[in-house]
Amino acid sequence: VKVMVNDKIMDRSEAVIDIEDRGYQFGDGVYEVIRIYDGVMFTGDEHLERFYSSAEKIQITVPFQKEELLDLMNQLIKENNVKDGSVYMQLTRGASPRNHVFPSKDIKPVLTAYTKEVARPVESLENGVAAMIADDIRWLRCDIKSLNLLPNLLAKQAATEQGCYEAILHRDGLVTEGSSSNAYIVVDGKIKTHPATNLILNGITRQVLARICQNNNIPFVEEAFTLDELRNADEIFVTSTTSEVMPVVKLDGTEVGDGNPGELTRKLQTLFVEEFESVKKA
Ligand code: PLP
Repeated sequence: VKVMVNDKIMDRSEAVIDIEDRGYQFGDGVYEVIRIYDGVMFTGDEHLERFYSSAEKIQITVPFQKEELLDLMNQLIKENNVKDGSVYMQLTRGASPRNHVFPSKDIKPVLTAYTKEVARPVESLENGVAAMIADDIRWLRCDIKSLNLLPNLLAKQAATEQGCYEAILHRDGLVTEGSSSNAYIVVDGKIKTHPATNLILNGITRQVLARICQNNNIPFVEEAFTLDELRNADEIFVTSTTSEVMPVVKLDGTEVGDGNPGELTRKLQTLFVEEFESVKKA
């Protein structure tokens, strides 16, 4: 398989990263995961937009123009002949003798990318998944898609150990998002989700969903909700690039509604599939 280091496509076995790369030592960098449906990136522009924005927020300059980077990703996807999968890309502040202080300007950021085949999680999308509630112990800049994911990993690991697909996080009783997804409730036909502040990552799937809701007159309310509201919701779902619109049918061991994916969640799933199908054809 081929990977990318800066603007070079090469065999994975040939890729070399310095042991003092700041991404490796400090998690000093940002990343994106973009879905590929039928060989084509879905919402690639939006992901790149967020990539540049994340980098800027931590004062790293992406060493390429957006169109160049999009071109490079498309080359990589083509080289690897990816059909349904994803491309992962990350940018670190570069390699330099270990020091918390940023290195001098002549140290170049390091871009790496690779692709993989990923099937849609059809079984889970159909039947729904279990989730648990966990404390959101992350920092106050969750709007940045940074490489520092330790709190997210701890939450996901706890969820997995309890047989759950996702941990839904809360700060002082207000639900923020999932460990690797955005979280939503449905109450009386209205969708509620945390506003896009510094406390959550504004998911690209979340943005697509907001647009879908607007176009279909489905109330989409960006307002934080409590753990009580979560526990009493008619429906719960989470979204992400790889999970799409994922129904949560069990919360901390208790069935949500009748234990099946909710009606509105199902409708959103259908509309979401139509959305990426239409992009594929375009
Ligand atoms: N929130 C967090 C913490 C995430 O890690 C992710 C994605 O991995 C999301 C939300 C969903 O974002 P997106 O829809 O852009 O994949």
